[in-house]
Amino acid sequence: MINLILFGPPGSGKGTQAAQLVDRYRVLHISTGDLFRYEMGNNTPLGQKAKSFIEKGELVPDEVTIGMLQNKVDAHPEALGYIFDGFPRTIPQAEALDAFLAGRGEAISRLIMLDVPDEEIIQRILGRGATSGRADDLNTGIIQNRIDVYKEQTSPVFDYYASHGKSVKVDGVGSIDAIFDRLCEVVDAI
Ligand code: ADP
Repeated sequence: MINLILFGPPGSGKGTQAAQLVDRYRVLHISTGDLFRYEMGNNTPLGQKAKSFIEKGELVPDEVTIGMLQNKVDAHPEALGYIFDGFPRTIPQAEALDAFLAGRGEAISRLIMLDVPDEEIIQRILGRGATSGRADDLNTGIIQNRIDVYKEQTSPVFDYYASHGKSVKVDGVGSIDAIFDRLCEVVDAI
């Protein structure tokens, strides 16, 4: 099985690239951001809880996020592998994911980080906000908070998998196709 973590700051293009990777490698795309938006759209108790954090640009608490992720994996026993997008975002999430996969005789194959500079990220997210309907994409204060949270709480996850020899950085600037080619090179080498 190929189990990828698609990693990078908000707005780095994870969702766009994950959709193409799924087509090529036939793995299941699990985006915690998409799962939260689905729950919020249906106004479920989980969605209501997540909303109070997401609208401030903060992370949803680990126990909520980890439980939701495990339910999604458990619901797809047929999956031939996974692309985790937006997860893990903290070290406790990474440890929980490793333990969860180990319990299934699986492991993360690679963490691939899409490397994009801050100025470009803010422009991309504001551009997306104009059409995405995502409240957390419209306000520069919230976007900046998401970037700060990424640097403080999420970027250590890159080092965590690097210490296991699993982290790779890919240039996330360029055309969608050019970036996809770079990602495929990494996946094909696994
Ligand atoms: P982005 O486009 O900023 O990468 P996502 O769509 O992945 O954002 O997630 C949107 C929001 O959902 C995040 O800002 C955060 O509040 C919440 N969220 C998503 N994934 C996680 C996670 N693994 N842990 C905690 N909160 C999360």
